[in-house]
Amino acid sequence: MSKKSYIIPIFIPHRGCPHDCSFCNQRKIAGEMKEITGEDIYKITNKYLDFFPSNHIKKEVAFYGGSFTGLEMEKQIELLKPAFEMKEKGLINEIRLSTRPDYIDDSILVLLKKFGVTTIELGVQSTDNKVLELNHRGHTKEDVVFASKLIKDTGFKLGLQMMVGLLGDNITSIIKTAKDIISLNPNFVRIYPTIVIEHTYLEKLYLEGKYEPFTLEKTIEICKELLILFKKNKIPVIRLGLQSNDNMDYGKSLVAGPYHPSFRELVESEIYKDVIEKQIKKKDADKIRILNIHCNPTIISRVAGFKQSNKKYFMDKYNISDIKIIADNELDKNQLHIEINRSH
Ligand code: SF4
Repeated sequence: MSKKSYIIPIFIPHRGCPHDCSFCNQRKIAGEMKEITGEDIYKITNKYLDFFPSNHIKKEVAFYGGSFTGLEMEKQIELLKPAFEMKEKGLINEIRLSTRPDYIDDSILVLLKKFGVTTIELGVQSTDNKVLELNHRGHTKEDVVFASKLIKDTGFKLGLQMMVGLLGDNITSIIKTAKDIISLNPNFVRIYPTIVIEHTYLEKLYLEGKYEPFTLEKTIEICKELLILFKKNKIPVIRLGLQSNDNMDYGKSLVAGPYHPSFRELVESEIYKDVIEKQIKKKDADKIRILNIHCNPTIISRVAGFKQSNKKYFMDKYNISDIKIIADNELDKNQLHIEINRSH
């Protein structure tokens, strides 16, 4: 797959965040982290630019963490100015940031436009007001709708982030959130399973037996539906699952929950498993001896399943003696061509 852009990630801990979302440990980690200055933005960006190969692939400064537009105005300008200068010089092409739906209004968008921001991501998490309240989000579905429309109308690219398995969540609230997100027509979405991390309200509830995270299996099953739903509506899911990185080391602070380093691969493998099973069930599955599955080379590992799980599943369930996954450049990623050799 060709690379669409090089991301220069800059993590902005939100020291003064007045909120205390159930799943977030920002208060804890922000206190332990060094404050980022405008000077740091130059340094971090230059370090990445030195490392990237010189080619025409787009370079993008991405401010992650906290709620960027909740920072004091002077701080926002201090951080945006270096990125904007580098954009003006053509050293980078885009600037993105993430924030809360209730921290968006006309004057904020004017400022972000002035400093060259191209993409705004909103942490929606859920569009069920009850779920939002239970998780202390401090905003409503109506805030999400208002902010999303304003962002799009002002000419920014819009990204929406949702979570799966929050306190009070169920399959209905999750699918409804996805449908509400689709109706807002974002340019992309990110989906995060809810995990319990140290020093959060969810941890407290979990330890008191008042919150049980979704199992990995259940989360995969639901995310499979979400991925299919967004795909049908042509909305790219640019992230599915949490990534352990230097700033958010989930491995170290994880207490419980459906964390898996290859989460997306697990979900996509399940989707291919369903497609294959549907096809072989249409035939006389009992008599299959050898199965040859032709697919685009980029999806071989997901067709075979995580650690060959799909191959094992079909061989065991249908008593198939061999399954070969064969690369075929003629097929696109949505196509599988299945050949069956039968025993007589
Ligand atoms: S998720 Fe964002 S708004 Fe909520 S507590 Fe964390 S930093 Fe604050």
